Amino acid sequence: MLNKLLSLADWFAASAWPLLPCPDCSSGMSVDRRNFSDVETFESEVNHDHPDFEADWVHGHFHGVVNCGNSQCGTRVIVIGDFKLGVSDYGQEIEWHGECWSHHYKVRYTHPPILIINRIDGIPDDVWELVRDASRLTWVDPAAALGRLRSAIEALMNNFKIKKLNAKRNPRPLHDRLVDFKKKNTEVADLLLAVKWAGNDGAHGSGATTADVLESAELMEHAFKLLYDKDPLLLRRRATAINKARGLPRTRQSK
Ligand SMILES: [Zn+2]
Repeated sequence: MLNKLLSLADWFAASAWPLLPCPDCSSGMSVDRRNFSDVETFESEVNHDHPDFEADWVHGHFHGVVNCGNSQCGTRVIVIGDFKLGVSDYGQEIEWHGECWSHHYKVRYTHPPILIINRIDGIPDDVWELVRDASRLTWVDPAAALGRLRSAIEALMNNFKIKKLNAKRNPRPLHDRLVDFKKKNTEVADLLLAVKWAGNDGAHGSGATTADVLESAELMEHAFKLLYDKDPLLLRRRATAINKARGLPRTRQSK
């Protein structure tokens, strides 16, 4: 999911709108040009008459719709954000003092939320709700989104019955719970510990970015795959069966 969304983490040229993953079917979603508007701020519009006016003074907001390309699905997502003029190698919407300028966008909100993690059957509902919340906050408040991913790990630990309270009936630190979880699944525990550290940084307000959230989400997606994706699970079980039998079952039968 990271590669598909990373281009939305920063400003991008209008001609480079990424194909966003549909929240319902994961197909690519593209911009509906009939339902897309840039709204220049009043200040920016007034500045056009300023004697020192430069193209990079132009800025404002945008709102629009992206449509799922899968005709069986048809989901529509509203996107909201900011626009500015930026120098562009392509597009050439405006020429200013010999340079090509075009509209550049920064997404601030999507509704329904573009999901930062692919859903896999088996992820508990309470965990998934927190991932959805994180997705909603990813562009508007990255620190809060990291906090939601951390809460999703707490909920996941509850689902695996990892002790929540200490002997004094106080909540145990998430770190200690993940260390306990290592006994069940070391690989997943290590991935989730990394997400927890990133979440700590976010909670302490050290300038978390959308890219930070997307990178944490990628680690979490991998953890979910290891826990719930049936294909690798089946393959691992098959490998265990082969190792136990010291050969393929049919080899043993042919003996
Ligand atoms: Zn769709």
